[in-house]
Amino acid sequence: MTEVSYALGLIGYPLEYSLSPALHRAALRATGLEGEYRCYPVPPLPEGEGQLRDLLGRVRRGELHGLNVTIPHKGSILAWLDELSPLAAAIGAVNTVLRRGERLVGDNTDAAGFLADLRRLGWVDQEGLPVDRSAPAQALVLGAGGAARAVTYALAKAGWAVAIAARRPEQAANLAAELERSLVGGMITRPVIYPLLPVATVLAEAPLPYLIVNATPLGMPPDLSASPWPAGLPFPDGACVYDLVYHPAETTLVARARRAGLRAAGGLGMLVEQAALSFAAWTGREAPVEAMRRAVEPMHSKKGKGRK
Ligand code: NAP
Repeated sequence: MTEVSYALGLIGYPLEYSLSPALHRAALRATGLEGEYRCYPVPPLPEGEGQLRDLLGRVRRGELHGLNVTIPHKGSILAWLDELSPLAAAIGAVNTVLRRGERLVGDNTDAAGFLADLRRLGWVDQEGLPVDRSAPAQALVLGAGGAARAVTYALAKAGWAVAIAARRPEQAANLAAELERSLVGGMITRPVIYPLLPVATVLAEAPLPYLIVNATPLGMPPDLSASPWPAGLPFPDGACVYDLVYHPAETTLVARARRAGLRAAGGLGMLVEQAALSFAAWTGREAPVEAMRRAVEPMHSKKGKGRK
């Protein structure tokens, strides 16, 4: 039998600082599989339409064995696929493309990757609820874009009440309404929103969160001092703060939360976990999560910018 040589890759724009090649090359090495993982920069549609069509055609023909999808295509790619996993359909975003027979299937591993990292940190149990049973399963998600969709879905599905704070009220309202429709007995609280992320307003109107998640790019280069949490606003006592941003390793939000004595983490762990789940979906092999983590931790502290 001929050994498969996996042709994998990432589509998004820009991709110069992506850690995904390092993650997946480490996974291939550690599992002893042949293959390569390449970046395919595809500009936003409609400019990138030809390239997107070409890459998806290559997956359909079996020339590529899988693709990751990142900004700005996680939502726009839905229309180009034959089928969505129930999770990707519910979230409305795809970060993993694979082939089933002749069909192109879109999946989402961000939601499960997020919960897997909260588990690794010891913040939530197997079901995704607070390990500390006396803590309220109440979360506040900052931002209402693609990543916020995955995080909000994961939390609400696990049984958390989620409030969403975003600078565009209609974006947060749509997210809440769509996810509520796809979740039986939707747990999402009415989003309390206001221009310019008035977290204070949300805190005054929604139950105090035990988990605060930054799903905006605030804190990434070039403005490392930016934070979605207003300066001077105290954090709720005992809260956990998770920043999806993973460059720099310690964002202003994470640093402030730690200084306030809270548990806080950046998003590198989620990046590793979502990559591991994509790798397993493409290869049918258990992903070597720790080898993947070791491959990016040193790069992560050196690089100045980056995305998936
Ligand atoms: P996105 O779809 O562009 O959504 C970003 C959200 O943040 C939107 O609600 C956006 O509002 C808001 N926002 C942007 N700039 C803002 C500002 N200056 N002030 C207030 N709100 C602002 O991006 P995404 O895919 O959700 O990604 C969000 C962040 O998560 C990125 O930093 C990304 O790298 C990170 N991420 C990490 C992982 C991981 O594995 N760790 C996975 C996915 C994403 P508007 O729509 O009004 O601009």
